[in-house]
Amino acid sequence: MQPGSRAVHAGHRKTARAPLSPPIVQTAVYVYDNLEDYDAVARGDVAGHYYSRISNENVAMLAEAVAELEGAEAGVATSSGMAAILVGISALAPRPCPIVAPLDLYGGTWVLFRQELEPAGYTTRIVDFTDLEAVRGALVGAGLVVCETITNPLVRVADLEAICRLAAESGVPVLVDNTFATPILCRPLELGATLSVHSATKYIGGHSDLTAGVTVGPRDAIRAAAARASRLGTTLGPFEAWLAVRGLRTLPLRIARMSANALALAEALQEAPTVSGVHYPTLPGSAQEELARRLLPDGAGGMLAVQLEGGLPTVQRLLDRFRMVSFAASLAGVETTVSHPEVTSHRNLTPEERAALGIHPGTVRISAGIEEASDIIEDFLQALGT
Ligand code: PLP
Repeated sequence: MQPGSRAVHAGHRKTARAPLSPPIVQTAVYVYDNLEDYDAVARGDVAGHYYSRISNENVAMLAEAVAELEGAEAGVATSSGMAAILVGISALAPRPCPIVAPLDLYGGTWVLFRQELEPAGYTTRIVDFTDLEAVRGALVGAGLVVCETITNPLVRVADLEAICRLAAESGVPVLVDNTFATPILCRPLELGATLSVHSATKYIGGHSDLTAGVTVGPRDAIRAAAARASRLGTTLGPFEAWLAVRGLRTLPLRIARMSANALALAEALQEAPTVSGVHYPTLPGSAQEELARRLLPDGAGGMLAVQLEGGLPTVQRLLDRFRMVSFAASLAGVETTVSHPEVTSHRNLTPEERAALGIHPGTVRISAGIEEASDIIEDFLQALGT
């Protein structure tokens, strides 16, 4: 099956007379009638569930579905994208070590590094991932690479395959946050990554109504990540997992439409009033276009960003004048939204770090929805106009 068909069926083992839509197994615990049975399931010798902090049908279905879509042996679903990143890191690098990462990372991942991992003894080596020689140098003695397929918020791409090759030569595992690209547009494990993680809160769920995460990869690493998740209690609830699987079924349709809308909007905004820069990976003529087309042959996703002249007042004016688009600190729902990285996702970085990243007071991140492209473009142009 093509990924578009696989998303519709992934994780669902249909049997005769079973409901076509998977039931929600809304339970904290399962009953057993003998100790031996329980022991066999708890040891992992027999498939089954006994306590929903450890595993549950709906949560397992989400993990299996994303693993299947990414061509991974196994997956673990968690209570959030941050939990997916945390258990992924602790599976690959359980003891403090240097982590190689680009400055271009979701702000929450930086907070995890700064406020949790660095106090525990990890160090962070920040490198420009478009400079492969610099990456090679930073890998010496490192324990892990962390990066994003398409970065939040300025939608930059790096040569993931080359980075994974360099990391493999140095024996360093690679964790890729694939949230922005989704398993439909990129499958990092096929490019050599060790683990791929998602904030399923975003495109996988797709309707801004749940918080969840998924980490997929080889069976041993996922076993370690799942053990960590159950010890830390970063458990996903059955209903959220059910919603995320429901969202996954339409991911291929949504991501195709959003990719087309994002590209059309990026092109339209290039000449719009107060816009001094537009970021979209495959924007014709942009420096990243060729690399992005190679990495993301089926589309570059629904995220874009613009730089507005005039800083915060211009941004506030835009928000005040929108008729359809909303300001919201998340992304990837069916409706078009904008966010302001300085005030939201990257608020915990220093102004110097934000400036180094290219995040300014006038930077606006846009999540293209599934509305008609003409309506999205019209709303932006009227809101930016004089
Ligand atoms: N990774 C990326 C790229 C994100 O944009 C986010 C959230 O915005 C996360 C991870 C964290 O996900 P969650 O909010 O589900 O914990």
